[in-house]
Amino acid sequence: MVHSEERTFVAVKPDGVKRGLTGEIIRRFESKGLKVIALKLLNVTQEMAEQHYAEHVGKPFYPRLIRYIQSGPVVAMVLEGYNAVQAARHLMGKTNPNEAEVGTIRSDFAMVMEYNVVHGSDSVESAKREIDIYFKPEELCENYKNMSELVVEDLDVE
Ligand code: UDP
Ligand code: MG
Repeated sequence: MVHSEERTFVAVKPDGVKRGLTGEIIRRFESKGLKVIALKLLNVTQEMAEQHYAEHVGKPFYPRLIRYIQSGPVVAMVLEGYNAVQAARHLMGKTNPNEAEVGTIRSDFAMVMEYNVVHGSDSVESAKREIDIYFKPEELCENYKNMSELVVEDLDVE
């Protein structure tokens, strides 16, 4: 298998949930071929927010970011698939919605950097760390195949 199977952590942020974009955002990841293996709606606690965004402590936007992620429920998920980290980031677009390419989630649904509707891990290591913050191991469902795996398996047959 030439493709590298990965997991990434993605969350629809409170602005996305409040605006009713959850279904549309999940649809884009699913349509791409990423498999949802864990999913929940939850309120992020102060402790979770601080763990999640530890790398940003001390930056000017940090206090607002911590308030933002707790400003309503988020929809947290684990996505699995080939190069899942990069695939999800590619669909999300750049952090600043006005620099994100047209057709990406942030370009299509957000106006400003502070409220950019979606989070996605930036590396496999970050994904592991973030999945641990939001999910217990038994909350991940690994025992089914999605369409893209079936298609790639077909292609790999000699
Ligand atoms: N953020 C912000 N102002 C900035 C940079 C980031 O409000 O100048 C927020 C934004 O919501 C972003 C989050 O902080 O999604 C985390 O920033 P990061 O640089 O990790 O961007 P991401 O990985 O989300 O694209
Ligand atoms: Mg980041």
